[in-house]
Amino acid sequence: MTSRGPILPGRTVGILGGGQLGRMFAIAARRMGYRVHALDPSQDGPAGQVADVEVVAPYEDVDAARRFAEAVDVVTFEFENVPSETLAAVAEIRPVHPSPAVLDTCRHRLREKRFLAKGGFPVAGFAEIRTEDELRAALVRLGTPAILKTAEFGYDGKGQVRIDAPESAGRAFEALGGKLGVLEAFVPFACELSVVVARSHAGDIVPFEVAENRHARHILDVSLAPAGVPAAARARATEVASDIAKAIDLVGVLGVEMFYLPNGDIVVNELAPRPHNSGHYTFDACVTSQFEQQLRAVCGLPLGEPTLLRPAAMANLLGDLWEHGEPQWDRAAAFPDVKIHLYGKTEARPGRKMGHLVAMAETAEEASARVLAARSALVSGRPGADPCP
Ligand code: AMP
Repeated sequence: MTSRGPILPGRTVGILGGGQLGRMFAIAARRMGYRVHALDPSQDGPAGQVADVEVVAPYEDVDAARRFAEAVDVVTFEFENVPSETLAAVAEIRPVHPSPAVLDTCRHRLREKRFLAKGGFPVAGFAEIRTEDELRAALVRLGTPAILKTAEFGYDGKGQVRIDAPESAGRAFEALGGKLGVLEAFVPFACELSVVVARSHAGDIVPFEVAENRHARHILDVSLAPAGVPAAARARATEVASDIAKAIDLVGVLGVEMFYLPNGDIVVNELAPRPHNSGHYTFDACVTSQFEQQLRAVCGLPLGEPTLLRPAAMANLLGDLWEHGEPQWDRAAAFPDVKIHLYGKTEARPGRKMGHLVAMAETAEEASARVLAARSALVSGRPGADPCP
């Protein structure tokens, strides 16, 4: 969107970050006839392979980012840790959506928690941790177990330690390595939920179906939609996510991760101002995907219809599956109802997200059984064949 109205197909969208989220965004954008430029520090990245133009430059290279901005009509991002100076330089040249202010809030756990708490959204008790004494005091206030997280650069369980007893405070503090920390009360959740919600320039808010997320080793393993929680809880989760999108003045899409408690309450864990791994199923299973929705929001088009066509499940494919060689793609392809998505990453490392599978069925649990069966088939007959213990 510019002061002259929406950015229509045929124009050029720039994306900061070249990973799988950028790749799926680029696929959605190119399908609608947009041109896509992707900026990323490494060559031949997942987004760069699909974009019209791949700009290879470190995120700290402000001049390269300026040149990148000049060649496009609007900029969005898929990577949250683009330095503020780079983002500010880009924003001086072209509109950036979501705004740098939204990114600034969401990529810093403390700012994010304060924003949520101030807005009256349900969050776990938390405390800012700069010193070991502050940690000890916070442990008295919040109790144990508790989770100590770095305020920045944490994802997939990286940069966090669980503290089970006050005596472990010293070791946990050391693990922070001098970084600013956030101590969070432990939430005894029944399951984890997420809602991806879009908000347009006009202020229209369109949430996707609530997903239920199952993790393995702190990394998202399987997402099911709709989540297997009562309708009232899904409605509440949707309302909370939509209210956050409004409160933060979002233009784009936002992934809201939440805990669902045994008593039916919802507690917000984290925000991601971009498409979310738990929304990947939307590419196959919804009228509009989260990536097309990001494009529509960023370009100032009306938002698309989010309806879930059938219950669905997505299973991540981590680099661990490559341990004994290339997975047996023919075996997964033998499941005619399972969609294979690969991100074009050449190096498989344990825990690295290489792709995902999606299935639809009568129920989300049946869809989950299908994707898990297809994923097992990728490595069946190989040593230690269970891909995600
Ligand atoms: P995060 O990096 O904040 O998304 O956390 C990764 C995972 O750790 C979450 O998906 C939860 O499974 C778990 N976790 C994080 N924070 C808490 C908490 N306060 N209470 C209980 N589990 C948590």
